[in-house]
Amino acid sequence: MIKIALLGSTGSIGRQVISTVERHPDKFQIVSISANSSYKLFEEQMNKFKPKIACLTDGLSARKITSIPPETTLYTGENSMLHAVTEDADIVLAAVSGFAGLPAVVEAIKMGKNVALANKETLVAGGEMVMRLAKEKGVKIIPVDSEHSAIFQCLNFSTQTPFKKLILTASGGAFRNYTKQEIANFKASEALKHPNWQMGKKITIDCATLLNKGLEVIEACHLYNAPLEKVEAIVHPESIIHSMVEFEDGAVMAQLGFPSMEIPIQLALTYPERYPTGVPFLSLAGKTLNFKEIDEDKYPCFPLALKSFEMGYNFACAMNSANEEAVGLYLQDKIGFYDIPRLIQYALEKTEKLEVNLENLLYTDKFARALVREKLEKI
Ligand code: NDP
Ligand code: MG
Repeated sequence: MIKIALLGSTGSIGRQVISTVERHPDKFQIVSISANSSYKLFEEQMNKFKPKIACLTDGLSARKITSIPPETTLYTGENSMLHAVTEDADIVLAAVSGFAGLPAVVEAIKMGKNVALANKETLVAGGEMVMRLAKEKGVKIIPVDSEHSAIFQCLNFSTQTPFKKLILTASGGAFRNYTKQEIANFKASEALKHPNWQMGKKITIDCATLLNKGLEVIEACHLYNAPLEKVEAIVHPESIIHSMVEFEDGAVMAQLGFPSMEIPIQLALTYPERYPTGVPFLSLAGKTLNFKEIDEDKYPCFPLALKSFEMGYNFACAMNSANEEAVGLYLQDKIGFYDIPRLIQYALEKTEKLEVNLENLLYTDKFARALVREKLEKI
């Protein structure tokens, strides 16, 4: 029985983890859950799985909860998520969205728990620190993100397998068939119509700007200890190939499958074993697979993310937090699509260079968000 601490249980990934657990109740058990404000679903999950620990960050939402099973201790408030990282767990599945997941992932590693990581922002902001700490503690960071899971599979589940290049595929997001002029006027409601995947709002906007692919290149550099030159991204609109690895001899391995996160989620928990998922099997007859380069003029967020990584120190953290703030504003129709890269650029210019440690990252996160709000007032 694999005991799971599930951070972000009410989100798109969290709900798919729950369905994975429900599919194989003999293999998985949920020992703790955490969420932010979706109190109704959170309460349902609490009463269904009766985890020992349940944490809801938003205090006001927590007050609306009416029934707590006797087996469960409920924690609420800003840092309550840390309680969900419990000694009882065999693995911590980090499915929180954004920088907010970082402290709990650090806590899990310090506790010696393996982490199945969907929360890519944690590696983008603090990858250097997180990977160093994981190495020190002998903890595995197992990819859940579909591209990184694909690479893990192509590398025979070993981060030590030598490779020449990692090639990440990108769907191209909601605006892939439009011109830059057309994209400039699209509102968030249009950006949220992702062609191939059903995901949380923040990542769906990141897919439309292609910043998500920038985050994923950085994530791959940290997970597979690769310099930026060894990681490429290519647009593949069908999302059938989830990523590829090129080896020294010229051979390329790819992982294919119906686009569903249930495969990488379950595999992160059971690898190298594989079990049924209920995801449709792939049928390739009659299908055409297309590939093209990323248009950096149309998608300036992509090179901007890579630039922040090249700058080192806390700059990728600043880029990520500025993006989170800007995406929040775009979702509220307060800014336009191309204001997102403008605001990130501004935050990067104004960020002061700091060494990567948790304290400095927490500071950088707050500061980058404040810079975005400050610039918005000037626009
Ligand atoms: P969602 O927005 O759907 O869910 C996020 C989860 O995190 C929710 O449970 C939410 O709680 C919780 N949460 C958000 N902010 C906080 C906070 N400040 N404190 C505590 N809990 C918080 O996101 P996704 O499931 O789409 O994505 C989760 C992560 O996985 C992201 O890092 C994303 O990039 C990554 N990922 C997602 C994929 C997908 O298919 N969705 C694919 C690959 C990676 P509440 O519901 O209460 O707000
Ligand atoms: Mg991905």
